[in-house]
Amino acid sequence: MDLKSVQKLTYTINWIILLLVFGLAGFFFVCKATFLLWFSIPTALVYVIGFILIRKEKLDIYVRIVYFWLTLYMSITTICLGYKIGFHLYCLSMIPIIFYTEYMASKIGKRKINAFAVSGIIGFCYLASTGYAACIGPVYKVDNIISGLFWVFNSVIVLFFLIVYSSIMLKMIGDYEGKLTAIALTDRLTSLNNRHFMVNKLEEAVKKDGEMFVSMADIDNFKGINDKYGHNAGDYVLKTVAQIMTDTLKDCVISRWGGEEFLVFSDGSAETKGFDLTEQLRKKIEEHNFTFEGNSIEVTITAGVAGFKKGLTVDEWIKEADDKLYYGKRNGKNRVVLKAEG
Ligand code: GH3
Ligand code: MG
Ligand code: MG
Repeated sequence: MDLKSVQKLTYTINWIILLLVFGLAGFFFVCKATFLLWFSIPTALVYVIGFILIRKEKLDIYVRIVYFWLTLYMSITTICLGYKIGFHLYCLSMIPIIFYTEYMASKIGKRKINAFAVSGIIGFCYLASTGYAACIGPVYKVDNIISGLFWVFNSVIVLFFLIVYSSIMLKMIGDYEGKLTAIALTDRLTSLNNRHFMVNKLEEAVKKDGEMFVSMADIDNFKGINDKYGHNAGDYVLKTVAQIMTDTLKDCVISRWGGEEFLVFSDGSAETKGFDLTEQLRKKIEEHNFTFEGNSIEVTITAGVAGFKKGLTVDEWIKEADDKLYYGKRNGKNRVVLKAEG
């Protein structure tokens, strides 16, 4: 959730509260609770000012003012009308919501609220106002049926806020988790999976067994490309190779293993599918016209392909592909090695 969506949500909530204030003012009028009727005027004003604060993105100030006023409103209504009317229930939704708000504030870069301190103050006002109403009795007498109806009304509002805020919060945390996971498992330059992702994938795969292969590919003389054309040209080559790999190795898992090395994993036989696909990739890269800032760059890869054998650990399996890759490097480069001899 970004600042704009928090702003939109707060705007909607501010409207709901303002309408409630007017509705409740009508109720105070019926109950002849004159003081509360007058008190509704500054209350409505707070929410009108709230719209301006939200529009000016001063959400931190808005939350502080609204929390202060809600606590005051709830305490005064409880003292005036008694706890049977259920205004003190708002405290119970304000406490979890202040913790959610603290989390949201940290995500959108706004000043955080001390949720513990605010909860303590709200809790104190809750006890003081309900305690006063219980021991001394409310200032205004309210008919039992009306107070019962209001108990239900206030309970519904409190439950509504709790449910809506909790579900928004859960969605927000879920979205953040998703984004963080994607960042943690993706290579920033090439947008391929990273080494961490691939290790997890292979560790899962070796548990299942079956016919599968890995292919370790390394760009030839890449240091020379960097040295001759610059680091940006090197990055361009890495990104283009990654794109060719994604286009060619359709049903394979592709990762940037490190620097200019890529590890590919797929189900199927190393001898047929593994070798053929990697050979197709090698040819496509060799034939591709890499041009950066007017310079044509020759790019080739060398790769080692290793099929999985029961009992191999992930490290041993990768090492086999790596050994074949280095066999290819020692024997002329720009080739795919399935069997390293000598
Ligand atoms: P070989 O054919 O034996 O593989 O030689 P090579 O030059 O490709 O390999 P070497 O290990 O000597 O050099 C790899 C270079 O890759 C060194 C490093 O600076 C460069 N490199 C690693 N990561 C990046 C990157 O993200 N961007 C760029 N531009 N260069 C990178
Ligand atoms: Mg290399
Ligand atoms: Mg290398």
